Amino acid sequence: MTEDGLWDVLVVGAGPAGSTAARVAAEGGARVLLVDAARFPRYKTCGGGLIGASLRALPPEALAVVERRVDRVTFSLRGGPARTVRSARPFLAMVDRERFDQALVDAATAAGVEFHDHVRVRAVEQRGDSVAVRTDAGELAASVVIGADGASGVTGRHVGVTIARADLGLEVELADAGEDWARRIHLDWGKDPGTYGWVFPKDGHLTVGVIERKGRGDATRAYLDRLVAGLGMADRAVLRSSGHLTLWRRPGSPVRQGRVLVVGDAAGLLEPWSRQGISFALRSGALAGEAAARARPEGPGALTAYETAVTEVLEPEQRAGAAMLRVFERWPALIHLAFTRVGLGATGFVRVCRGSLDLPRVLRPRSLAAAARMLGGRSR
Ligand SMILES: Cc1cc2nc3c(=O)[nH]c(=O)nc-3n(C[C@H](O)[C@H](O)[C@H](O)COP(=O)(O)OP(=O)(O)OC[C@H]3O[C@@H](n4cnc5c(N)ncnc54)[C@H](O)[C@@H]3O)c2cc1C
Repeated sequence: MTEDGLWDVLVVGAGPAGSTAARVAAEGGARVLLVDAARFPRYKTCGGGLIGASLRALPPEALAVVERRVDRVTFSLRGGPARTVRSARPFLAMVDRERFDQALVDAATAAGVEFHDHVRVRAVEQRGDSVAVRTDAGELAASVVIGADGASGVTGRHVGVTIARADLGLEVELADAGEDWARRIHLDWGKDPGTYGWVFPKDGHLTVGVIERKGRGDATRAYLDRLVAGLGMADRAVLRSSGHLTLWRRPGSPVRQGRVLVVGDAAGLLEPWSRQGISFALRSGALAGEAAARARPEGPGALTAYETAVTEVLEPEQRAGAAMLRVFERWPALIHLAFTRVGLGATGFVRVCRGSLDLPRVLRPRSLAAAARMLGGRSR
């Protein structure tokens, strides 16, 4: 506890966004409290796939818990014949979120952050020069609050984040990864528009999941069952079965209200096509942590740097992802063909995963941007 009971920075939620924001703010000299509603280590429904942008944003503690490095991907369309693309070097890493999130919390506490788990935040209120945060364990106060409480959290509502779309992800953890899955993932493009499924290997188990627009729960569950059966895995022991929403923000949606910033899923920051959100959580967390640390000597005006960075760095990736999703929703067979039969398509996929190419750059050539607009139709 600080002497005056006022923290420089209070971070709500200890997923990748919150732990990173807390660590970076502490490294910048701020006195930081990090709280999470869950008891840690805690489970999180997630594929645990890390692209290059995620790996580049990690402290050594979190890199140490990477379980697999993937250098091949098998694609199928609606459970049909599969085709595997290999890369000379790994392009994706796999983590178990329970271990990964704990490692990020450990990195934050090593940087001087005070961490309290099992503390649920109920409400946030701005009071002049500080922010009051009501929790199950009493009231807390801070000069700056960073909301990292995930999709549908208290802080996103406080800031007024506006959501473009919500999807439901369902997953099962199946026993026994097996040698065949040592360095390989599987992606299946589903029959309903915009849906896809994945198999991601971990140490000793496989994460099999699907994602679909929210509101079609039965169809989403049926797709997951079909995917598992089609892979010949229906008789494997189910270690865990769970679901979680992913929400992405409208371009221009607020990410700050006064002295409160929101990061990661709380801000609706994820890539709309793949719905990968860990790189957005890590990067937005670091940007918010930096701005919050600077607000200590410079005042709350320093927080605008975070809004600018989201607009300039993360929003273009979200826009490009949304454009790709529109094409994928209408033309999944074309995407499948591009990745499995066209050398440039497969190379592009691998390079985007590895992080040597990003989606805005994929769409930068005018001809490709025009093709994406034509194939994707009007944005909704
Ligand atoms: C099925 C599925 C698969 C996915 N697969 C991938 C993938 O392979 N790769 C990828 O990059 N992304 C993936 N994502 C997205 C990724 O999981 C999220 O984008 C990422 O977890 C966001 O991190 P975060 O820190 O913002 O939020 P979270 O990881 O959700 O953490 C939020 C934290 O806030 C805490 N909290 C919530 N409410 C409160 C409260 N009121 N008070 C205090 N604490 C609170 C929670 O306990 C939690 O610990 C997937 C998502 C889904 C749904």
